[in-house]
Amino acid sequence: MSIRLLSENMINQIAAGEVVERPASVVKELVENSIDAGARRIDIAMEDGGRVLIAVTDDGCGMDADDLALAIERHATSKLPDDDLQHIGTLGFRGEALPSIGSVARLTVTSRTAVGDSAWSITVDGGDKGAVHPAAHPRGTRVEVRDLFYATPARLKFMKAPQTERNHAADVVRRLAMAHPEIAFSFSDGARSLIKLAPAQGDFLSAQLDRLDAIMGNEFGDNALAIDAERESIRLSGHIGLPTLNRGNAALQFLFVNGRPVRDKLLQGAVRAAYRDFLAHDRHPLLALFLDMPPELVDVNTHPAKTEVRFRDPGLVRGLIVSALKHALAEAGHRASTTVSNMALGALRPRSESGPSGTVLPLRPGGGAFGGRTAPPSSLAEAAAEYLAPLDQAHVSGTFGGAAMAPSAPAPAIDEAPALEEYPLGVARAQLHETYIVAQTANGIVIVDQHAAHERLVYEAMKKAMTEGGVKRQVLLIPEVVELGEAGAEAVTDRAGELEALGLVVEPFGTGAVMVRETPALLGETDVVGLVRDLADDLAEYDSALGLETKLADVCSTIACHGSIRAGRRLNGQEMNALLRQMEATPHSGQCNHGRPTYVELKLGDIERLFGRR
Ligand code: ADP
Ligand code: MG
Repeated sequence: MSIRLLSENMINQIAAGEVVERPASVVKELVENSIDAGARRIDIAMEDGGRVLIAVTDDGCGMDADDLALAIERHATSKLPDDDLQHIGTLGFRGEALPSIGSVARLTVTSRTAVGDSAWSITVDGGDKGAVHPAAHPRGTRVEVRDLFYATPARLKFMKAPQTERNHAADVVRRLAMAHPEIAFSFSDGARSLIKLAPAQGDFLSAQLDRLDAIMGNEFGDNALAIDAERESIRLSGHIGLPTLNRGNAALQFLFVNGRPVRDKLLQGAVRAAYRDFLAHDRHPLLALFLDMPPELVDVNTHPAKTEVRFRDPGLVRGLIVSALKHALAEAGHRASTTVSNMALGALRPRSESGPSGTVLPLRPGGGAFGGRTAPPSSLAEAAAEYLAPLDQAHVSGTFGGAAMAPSAPAPAIDEAPALEEYPLGVARAQLHETYIVAQTANGIVIVDQHAAHERLVYEAMKKAMTEGGVKRQVLLIPEVVELGEAGAEAVTDRAGELEALGLVVEPFGTGAVMVRETPALLGETDVVGLVRDLADDLAEYDSALGLETKLADVCSTIACHGSIRAGRRLNGQEMNALLRQMEATPHSGQCNHGRPTYVELKLGDIERLFGRR
């Protein structure tokens, strides 16, 4: 056995093993080169999933004959002018894409600069370099890659079905296009055009939103919040979706560092942390975030495909993302995404003319649909009856009390205080099924799930109060003794200090019982026994080493369940309106802790469409 130096072509093929994993990686390298070349329009074409042909054409700066000859040499690059790996301002810098591709396929590069009076072309065929020769081409560069991996049959075997490879490539193009809204992109697979993006106009954030909208679908544009934050010399910009617009996977989350699409655990973790309060574990928000920082603060040279990065100060980056996202989500207030009402409309839309019997009320002459008392029993009829029935005051005032949702005073007449309609969530008109509040807004109706909304309000109020030094409590006139059994009583008294911060003052009372002296004021009059029993059950399940704060959402939902607004309680008009106003004033009140909406809004236009009036 003897040691020998590998041939240049072997070295290129080995490099290709890392850089050119599949057709999508070729597309990525070539499009990055076009972006680095200052192109304003980039056209990508693919045949047979990239096996037969990948062609990328741009209108960038182009290359003259000498540069063209150098470009296909290994480690030849125009992008490290100062030989400084700490200041990488371009997408490329390793100088190995073109030679690697040339070693495993038939590569032709044709290019012309702004000043050149002719274009030049060069071909590398499985590592065999041809001579530079004159060619016809407008300003810019066209790179054609034919018969990918013909020179490395082992790699060829790993190619997936053409549409799989094509989709991967389209994905790469979309990611790069998001980071460069000013560039026009097109992508076609011979048969049809998959991507067609016009250059976006306007300032950076609005151009970006246009581009994201075009790529992620219009839902995103309607439901996105702009992010623009800076900490030290790191800037975070981009757009994030409202929590109620969510998906079962993270495929529509895009992260960029200095214009480079990356998949990074740190960034993904920070996004999860920011949305933790608003989404269930298995739901994912839609977003595109762009981190821009001086090149020396991030190492992009950790992987040949350049999709992973290393930050000089990961904690700073994480903190910036978490706080900027949380801030934006808080500013969004009670907003829930329009997709919620779209979904609701989809569900409401009649499936067929003759729907299931019993749900359609017979129209009676003169009386109108809801007129007759003899209408067959149905949920709609009940709803209508309830709408017309005056709220039962005796029942209501017997049930309520409490600071936040202060009741009293008769319910407002149906059309009192029209000014309230200027409120985003409108004025409450009725309560249906003792569960839903129906409100009229300036141009539509809002249906609130009172229980879900109240739970969220309690949670947000508790969180806020805890950061401000404790939840307001109200003293029970007569302390309540609650029998819990020994284990339950112990679980509760062990946590007495933490519960006090949540507004619940308990102390041991003999064996197996506790005495409750004070309850959270924001609950109003509560069912103390039920509350403490349920809490004891919760606490028994929690890891006693962990602070209650880690389980705050669960604890709050248990607490809220025993408040005055849970499902099944009658509310009077004032209480309903108080709830709506609180929702408007409370961040994150548009969704529950699992990303489900707390209310649905239907615009008049939508309703008219439902009835075929438009
Ligand atoms: P890198 O991008 O890392 O520099 P490449 O092998 O991808 O390495 O490209 C080598 C060089 O060829 C680049 O540095 C650039 O000068 C030139 N080049 C490649 N593609 C283009 C293009 N589309 N337009 C202008 N110049 C290009
Ligand atoms: Mg390159």
